[in-house]
Amino acid sequence: MAMDLAVVSARGATRWQHAHPWIFKSDVVRFPSAPAGAVRVEDPRGRPIGTALWSPASEISLRMVDRDTPAELDQPWWHDRLARAIARRDDIRRHSSACRLIHGEGDALPSLVCDRYDRWLVVQLMSAGLDTFQDQIVAALVQLTGCDGILARNDAAARAREELPRETTLLHGDVPREIEVHEHGVKYLAAPWTGQKTGAFLDQRENRHRIGQLARGRALDCFAYHGSFALHLAANADTVVAVDSSGAALERARQNAERNARANITFVEADAFDDLRARDRAGERFDTIVVDPPAFAKNRPSLPAAIRGYHEINLRALRLLAPGGIMFTASCSYHLTKPLFLEMIEGAAADSGRRIALRELRTQPADHPELLTIPESGYLKGAILEAMD
Ligand code: SAH
Repeated sequence: MAMDLAVVSARGATRWQHAHPWIFKSDVVRFPSAPAGAVRVEDPRGRPIGTALWSPASEISLRMVDRDTPAELDQPWWHDRLARAIARRDDIRRHSSACRLIHGEGDALPSLVCDRYDRWLVVQLMSAGLDTFQDQIVAALVQLTGCDGILARNDAAARAREELPRETTLLHGDVPREIEVHEHGVKYLAAPWTGQKTGAFLDQRENRHRIGQLARGRALDCFAYHGSFALHLAANADTVVAVDSSGAALERARQNAERNARANITFVEADAFDDLRARDRAGERFDTIVVDPPAFAKNRPSLPAAIRGYHEINLRALRLLAPGGIMFTASCSYHLTKPLFLEMIEGAAADSGRRIALRELRTQPADHPELLTIPESGYLKGAILEAMD
């Protein structure tokens, strides 16, 4: 059966010519009559521009996936597309047993996320169009990875905007509650069923390794979660203080420390803003600091308040840096753009009155490709700073 047709405006077609796959409802001139699935797409002059995943309820009506118009998106099509993305990650497996195999738009597979944790996969199918191809995707993933199980963490809020159910379901084999991950010589437990994102923060893997290499003396990890930064710091620092407001997160961090036989980490359940201020008042100083807060800006209206939050936490941390100290600071808020992130650190440095050097700008790792033509594929910014005196 031939695919149904969508016609898009000149503006929609141009967007795709510029390598951005989203076509919004306002740029669709003729909607497909078929339910969610794959459709062929034409510009207003009747020229075919490719194939898209069609989401009837979404503001993003069409997600372009191919410049050609195959008869259908069949099993070999998905196999080929997934295989290309997975092959890009071969080198990461040498040092880490967990990595992102599919980063949605960044891997030309809009609205699909797939993370590998050792022998298991966790997927997120975040659009109605994509959801109709669940069976093909699962079959291709099993074939390509030989995994023991696939869990769908389809509980993300984005599913509601697509009028899809929010649920966590097993799609293949079995997936344990906890999976031991090996990352640059550090071991930690991922929680695929219940943890944040798909069970761990894989996007900071290379940044954790980097700051771990630079760590020394007294170290501080703010917003420690399961302690994955703290564990890397603990390898080279004398002592590490790991601060998080969640007792449950710290309990897991404690278990991870035991797993790595690290006895030099202290866990502190506290609000990081209060804790840093108290330490500054007490005259404490640290040689290595990590500030990796949750996304303060969840949407555009919350951006000004978020910037104040980032500024405040970075300022407090910079005050605690010993002379010559090194700090890694990050933001995973998509709305805080790279220029705004840099401006925020510059402001915090100025307010600290310290001479602070920018040593490295950091970004997403290769398994989370950020496409220059798709701003939405990038969200993680980081910087390594040094207190010059
Ligand atoms: N650095 C972590 C990820 C941090 S996730 C890693 O790479 O694994 C954000 C963490 O911040 C969560 O564990 C949450 O409990 C904690 N958190 C949120 N608000 C906080 C606050 N005001 N003070 C301290 N911790 C906070």
